[in-house]
Amino acid sequence: MKKAFFTHYGVILLLLCIKTVPVFPAALPDTFTVPQSIPAAIIDHINKNLPEFLQDLQEVLDAETNDLLILVDKQHPLSEHYVPKEIIPLSKKRSYALNRADLSLTKQAEAALQRMAAAARNDGVTLLVSSSYRTYLYQKNLFNRYIREAGEKEAERFSARPGTSQHQLGTVVDFGSITDAFAATKAGKWVYKHASEYGWSLSFPKGYEKVTGYIWESWHYRYIGKEACAFQKKWFGDIQQYMLEFIDAWKKQHRS
Ligand SMILES: [Zn+2]
Repeated sequence: MKKAFFTHYGVILLLLCIKTVPVFPAALPDTFTVPQSIPAAIIDHINKNLPEFLQDLQEVLDAETNDLLILVDKQHPLSEHYVPKEIIPLSKKRSYALNRADLSLTKQAEAALQRMAAAARNDGVTLLVSSSYRTYLYQKNLFNRYIREAGEKEAERFSARPGTSQHQLGTVVDFGSITDAFAATKAGKWVYKHASEYGWSLSFPKGYEKVTGYIWESWHYRYIGKEACAFQKKWFGDIQQYMLEFIDAWKKQHRS
């Protein structure tokens, strides 16, 4: 039995060599543990198109700078000492509008926000920034306030414990009213449609509370870069959480 298998395998390999077809693995390696939250259909699709997927994955990893694709959620908190580099204040002179004076982002995310806001302006839409970079300490105070107001269980659904907020990355913006009503506004619709063209991704989509840990937040966008946005759409059903969990697992398991 074993011998026959190897014989067949040998013939196939020989044919592949003759035709000079590159030999790719047929499936994700057995040694790679796929994060459990990712649906089987997504992994099947990846396995059926593995060479193309691995090439896309490599391009996304090569394009990553400054922790853009770091996984931050309730199971993967940032250290209280994590401070992004090059945080700059948001400015009134740019194409976006500001809801308050003390807003800031990483330099890279601010530039990307400006590009998106300028495009929105061209379409007659103003993007109002209501929240942006939050330090660990700020998040700690905010979360404690929500616990006092709504109770711990409820606060967990819409707010993050310190260390588990994407806002600590300095690459996240909350737009407009920070309420569900935002989705139906001109800005809400524009940003939902166009954000990925500028590298921004909706972190907590509708109907994915069990996956992301958070209720739908139509206003909360994270800058991950255009390559990652396209990759997320093509392979992960446009769900940021699936993609980031996959990349996190991939990086951890390929670190030697
Ligand atoms: Zn937010």
